[in-house]
Amino acid sequence: MASTINPSLSHELLERYGHSSPGCAFSLTERVGDQPFSDAQYREVLTQLLQRPDEGLAVYLHVPFCHVRCLYCACDTTVTHSQEKIDRYLDALEQEMALVTDLIGRGRRLDQLHVGGGTPNHLNEPQLARLVEILERHFQLVPGACTSIECHPRRASAGQLELLYGLGFRRISFGVQDLNADVQRAIGRVQSLNMVRDVFLTARETGFESINLDLVYGLPFQNQHGFQATLDQICELGPDRVACFSYAHDPATRPHQHAINPDHLPSAAEKVGLFHRAVRSFTDAGYRWVGLDVFVRESDELFDAQAQGRLYRNAIGYTPLPAKQVLAFGPSGVGEIAGALVQNEPDLRVWHQRLKGSQLPVAWGRRLSEADRRRREAILYLMCNLRLPASSASDLEEEYARLCSNAEHGLVEVSEEGIQVTPRGRYLLRGLCNEQDALADWGSSQWRFRVQN
Ligand code: SF4
Repeated sequence: MASTINPSLSHELLERYGHSSPGCAFSLTERVGDQPFSDAQYREVLTQLLQRPDEGLAVYLHVPFCHVRCLYCACDTTVTHSQEKIDRYLDALEQEMALVTDLIGRGRRLDQLHVGGGTPNHLNEPQLARLVEILERHFQLVPGACTSIECHPRRASAGQLELLYGLGFRRISFGVQDLNADVQRAIGRVQSLNMVRDVFLTARETGFESINLDLVYGLPFQNQHGFQATLDQICELGPDRVACFSYAHDPATRPHQHAINPDHLPSAAEKVGLFHRAVRSFTDAGYRWVGLDVFVRESDELFDAQAQGRLYRNAIGYTPLPAKQVLAFGPSGVGEIAGALVQNEPDLRVWHQRLKGSQLPVAWGRRLSEADRRRREAILYLMCNLRLPASSASDLEEEYARLCSNAEHGLVEVSEEGIQVTPRGRYLLRGLCNEQDALADWGSSQWRFRVQN
């Protein structure tokens, strides 16, 4: 039982593996590189999809707007109250989709759609309807497709949730982060338990098939006692999934995080303790721990997929779906197409300019070499299925040996079948994966397939 695990990790191990890379819950806005990728290069990658006309696609759509900036935020977003600005974004999004579908064919089958941000439900109702209408004009969303949207509880209303359901969304995710008032004040995001509960119950009544709640650990003023209270309240609500992300304090790249006093942040050891509480609380409440930081019901498809060793993680997140081609739209969106990773221009203004000139608004990209691909597949497999078959050793000698060396710390077990992450090692799995990733020959760039929060 996970509830009996005491991770008791040494200072040395926490120093080596306990650091989080910056990122954002469910966001795809992590910088994945700084190798420029041109419009022509992106067109070449996209046209390869023409050779696979029947392959189902996934779409990530980034809505880069919020009504206020939370201080811990690591997403690419802009605070706006201008409807006109949002309408202009929708005009440009339509143009971006037309440019892409001119190359890959209009009406391609979509197996997965995720709308993230930012705050997608910062859009008003006609704007939300238009967003879906634009999408449906360019793609065919098949019945049973996995359709999800991220929402801010404070912006959600019964009418809006009904509209989203009517537009075809069946999965919804709300950012809760922490229910403690001191923590909420320190991160500039105040939302009471009553408000979260009301929105949650309304989403249930509306009929959403899956409701996810996001939590964040490692925030200012979080302590074991206070976080336990949040965990108990979340368990009582009974969401279908919970994602429990690690906060990465990185004011150098996210200047608004300067407003968070680092002295108020829990230490690396305290963070492991907070996450351990989450593991214990959710497993005791009947959830199963999936991948790095997600908790699901036993009936959840992700649990089955992990148990059967077929859980996958694409640019959208964990998925049991085979869809590997992810097209990203909107500023900063990360896609993964025909063996290449691409990221759109994160600056809203530049994204607009590129589209105005009928250019694809891609900023960075990398065509994965055979070695990149093997390493990436191995990291993803380890992250999703907590093991690595011995057959990987021939392709990834250095990485495999390095992972094996962690057996002496009790983080992995090595057998003839391969490497198995131990319950203790799971607490540092993100660090273990990042270390292997760092071996990649990404040239002089920062480009790496980094584990997102
Ligand atoms: S709502 Fe989400 S995306 Fe917007 S500022 Fe807050 S954390 Fe960032």
